[in-house]
Amino acid sequence: MQLIIFGSPGVGKGTQAKILASKLGIAHISTGDILREAIKKESELGKKAKAIVEKGELVPDDIMGGIILEALMEDKCKNGFILDGFPRTIAQAKILDNIFATLYTEEPFIIKLNVDDSIIIDRLTNRLVCNKCGNIIGKNEYKEDYICHVCKSTNSYYKRKDDDEEVIKRRLKVYHETTAQVFNYYSDKSKVIEVDGTQSIEDVTSKILTTMNIN
Ligand code: AMP
Repeated sequence: MQLIIFGSPGVGKGTQAKILASKLGIAHISTGDILREAIKKESELGKKAKAIVEKGELVPDDIMGGIILEALMEDKCKNGFILDGFPRTIAQAKILDNIFATLYTEEPFIIKLNVDDSIIIDRLTNRLVCNKCGNIIGKNEYKEDYICHVCKSTNSYYKRKDDDEEVIKRRLKVYHETTAQVFNYYSDKSKVIEVDGTQSIEDVTSKILTTMNIN
């Protein structure tokens, strides 16, 4: 089973992708996580991507195409996957079309989460991310010696550099100008699911799964 999850930055794609991957027994492929890991390790990819990611701009399509192909060839994707953060441009969608035409017989489910920009800005400026497992919490939940309830590490939560208000506005602009059109590119596909992302995490997951006919 293959899923692609769309929506603006901060809409809850990562949170839903993690839950869906675990419930469906498929891999969660987040291109943002892959890039952040490369930046942390200071690999060749990380060096190329650092300034771009920190400004909230898009890493070039040829680099992203290589990353996604490599990720999808991994063993963990054998039973399926959910893509979170890819494709973000029409060129990336075409790269993915070619990969699907070669490797898979089924069409992917296309999921889109909708939340207004004003709510997004508030969510992102107030979120912290676990450096070890990627779990997200609100700033007001954090206190000294905070233990991550998912991976149990202590004091691992940090604010992403691109969660600065100016960078968030830049990321939203890039989303509306470029990535939103990618969803339209898929609008004639049969397995498209649109969900109101302001509902609770549990309600969003349940709406997605019932629309997919999975209970
Ligand atoms: P995300 O965690 O999905 O919000 O991604 C964080 C940042 O990584 C984005 O703002 C981009 O700079 C970069 N990025 C992630 N995925 C892509 C992609 N498919 N194409 C280009 N840049 C990407």
